[in-house]
Amino acid sequence: MEVTAKQQTSALNQPNSSIGRNCSGVCKKFKPWSDFDKKSNGLNGHDSRCKVCISKAKKSYKSKIKKHYRDAQTIESKIIGVASQEKVEQLAKIIATSIIDLCDKGLIK
Ligand SMILES: [Zn+2]
Repeated sequence: MEVTAKQQTSALNQPNSSIGRNCSGVCKKFKPWSDFDKKSNGLNGHDSRCKVCISKAKKSYKSKIKKHYRDAQTIESKIIGVASQEKVEQLAKIIATSIIDLCDKGLIK
């Protein structure tokens, strides 16, 4: 369907018109319904964000996940780097000794 300037202007005043709607995504542009994905429970059977905004949002979500995953890997490698087997054993001995000590003093029953 051809969207004329007049239709577009009047549609802007009523965002949920029959020819399209204002995108609720990043672009905020008025776009015809054909630029929106179909969504059964959405307004007028369409998504509130245009296809462009949805694909952008998906990309940024993916990159966020990737970054998060990288961060987690970095933290994990740092922890493993610090907590070598020897250090873990040392720590375990210290904890065990402290517990035995506390038991001896009758602080732990
Ligand atoms: Zn958009």
